[in-house]
Amino acid sequence: MVATGKLFILSAPSGAGKTTILKKVMAKIGGLVFSVSHTTRSPRSAEENGVDYHFVSTDEFEDMRAQDLFLEWAEVHGNFYGTSRLAVLNQLTMGQDVILDIDVQGAGIIRKNDSIAAVSIFVAPPSIAELERRLRGRGTDSSETINLRLQNAVKEMESASGYDYLVINDELEQAAATLQAVIIAERSRGHRLPTGEPIMLVTDR
Ligand code: ADP
Ligand code: 5GP
Repeated sequence: MVATGKLFILSAPSGAGKTTILKKVMAKIGGLVFSVSHTTRSPRSAEENGVDYHFVSTDEFEDMRAQDLFLEWAEVHGNFYGTSRLAVLNQLTMGQDVILDIDVQGAGIIRKNDSIAAVSIFVAPPSIAELERRLRGRGTDSSETINLRLQNAVKEMESASGYDYLVINDELEQAAATLQAVIIAERSRGHRLPTGEPIMLVTDR
């Protein structure tokens, strides 16, 4: 049997806490590879090139786009973001589960791609007021950027019903536990252990 990993898509309005939740879950369960996107956005102070994103110029991004190297790409909040086709397909072929942190446009593109099966999860904040508090509290974006992200959040929330699962990030530990439960349940559906490895039936007892 060819081992094929599962593809998970995680989307959320900016500031909902998707990155925070995902880091918690990845620290708890193994076998999940985070797909590092390419972006033309400038790095935030704590972000590392090649870890959080591949930070590239607009020219580099356009070159990659012209060569059809992206599985999906989109313009989000005024910057370009894209998922490397080769990196994701290689990991899946090796039997690794891969998680994409992409926006609602990117999720829509993957959903329309019949050759790729993905499980999609939408992380929502408990309210827009709390989303604004989190964006301001994070302290990484200018007031102008925050306002743009809040405006876009209202539209992004309208896409939530198209996802397989909804996780409300009110209490952080609870939200992380819910995402973890979704991933483990999906692995069980695919006859995999909670760690993502294929189940090997012991036949020689
Ligand atoms: P995203 O990746 O969705 O843009 P982040 O993970 O960067 O969001 O979180 C935005 C901010 O909200 C961060 O400062 C983070 O510490 C905070 N945060 C995340 N989840 C919660 C929560 N459940 N309650 C309160 N603050 C949270
Ligand atoms: P941020 O700038 O806050 O890191 O991300 C902004 C938005 O871009 C988030 O919604 C995030 O999920 C999305 N994003 C990150 N990488 C990609 C990608 O490769 N493709 C798409 N379509 N969206 C992405």
